[in-house]
Amino acid sequence: MSAARHAQVLVVGAGQAGLAAGYHLRRAGLDFAVLDANPAPGGAWQHYWDTLRLFSPAGYSSLPGRPMPQQAGQEYPDAAHVVAYLTDYEKRYDLPVHRPVRVEAIARDADGITVTTDDGSWRSRAVLLATGNWDRPHLPSVPGRADFTGRQLHTHDYRTAADFAGQRVVVVGGANSGTQIAADLHATAEVRWVTQRPARYLPDDIDGRALFEIATRRVQAGGPRISDLGDIVAVPPVRAARTAGLTSRPMFDRLTPTGVAWADGTTLDCDTVIWCTGFRPDLPALDLTRTDGRIPTEGTRSTEDPRIHFLGYGDWTGPASATLIGVGRTARTAVEQLKPLL
Ligand code: FAD
Repeated sequence: MSAARHAQVLVVGAGQAGLAAGYHLRRAGLDFAVLDANPAPGGAWQHYWDTLRLFSPAGYSSLPGRPMPQQAGQEYPDAAHVVAYLTDYEKRYDLPVHRPVRVEAIARDADGITVTTDDGSWRSRAVLLATGNWDRPHLPSVPGRADFTGRQLHTHDYRTAADFAGQRVVVVGGANSGTQIAADLHATAEVRWVTQRPARYLPDDIDGRALFEIATRRVQAGGPRISDLGDIVAVPPVRAARTAGLTSRPMFDRLTPTGVAWADGTTLDCDTVIWCTGFRPDLPALDLTRTDGRIPTEGTRSTEDPRIHFLGYGDWTGPASATLIGVGRTARTAVEQLKPLL
């Protein structure tokens, strides 16, 4: 067996969160490596569907140091533009990303941390986890799911509306993924969009820019919560589908062999159900205690072991930390907190 490699700090994941961490580790002059399971740069963005649009213009979607360039002809860039930006970011800051390398387990001892991967093991003094959630799709338990004979897929597996041309498709979910996918299918398929509560669009003039400002103000002074204002950013393709008649109906109660059914006896046959029902943090095996299923943190730092930080997982690890513009702030704080421990 080959000897373990060493780095003062290991970052697990080279999506936007891992790259923001790399930027601040580089600036702090620390010895680090980034391990990424994907074969190519771009994190989750390389797997999104063709028509996905950012919530914010390019100028409000930048990682630290390097502004995202405009995308020609698009106020709200698409996923391919973000992949190109992240690819360039890695190169520009010469970030030491090793891929494809999947971290399988993280074990702590008094002298350091052992990180076991599918390509050998590493020793480090600290670990920043930035693994995102893309590879852990969440499916709700709805009666009859196993009985449905049509196709079921999750946001994770959706690529293009052309795959569903002419089909009867039920899209489940009232957040941004469900809305953008329902909008994408609206002109191509016979789409029925169901949501747990009536679809709540943010006002059309509120996009990711305003959301970031609201999240920041809330941290500083306790302003309104974003979720009080609405769930869905009305990006241009969503607005167009809404104008063309896209509306949501209440969530069904169960699946049948041929479709879905509501408690009042209404049924709807369909070919496909697309579950846009979210994701969960995708963490490798880690010997930290969980409380109510979640590892307790103070900011990004594990309350049990200050050598372990979690970056980019949203409210759990810092307001706006699951966004391109917001993750830099939490990455900087995490590196500042780690430096004295190394
Ligand atoms: P990821 O991008 O998922 O990267 C994690 C990386 O870690 C991956 O490369 C993965 O392979 C790797 N990894 C995972 N497990 C391991 C392991 N065990 N070992 C090694 N590597 C591992 N965000 C914005 O900022 N602005 C927007 O406008 C925006 N719009 C969105 C619109 C939609 C419809 C959706 C669905 C999302 C949107 N997002 C937006 C959210 C954003 O895409 C994600 O929050 C973001 O990609 C998360 O970044 P991350 O770096 O935390 O994780």
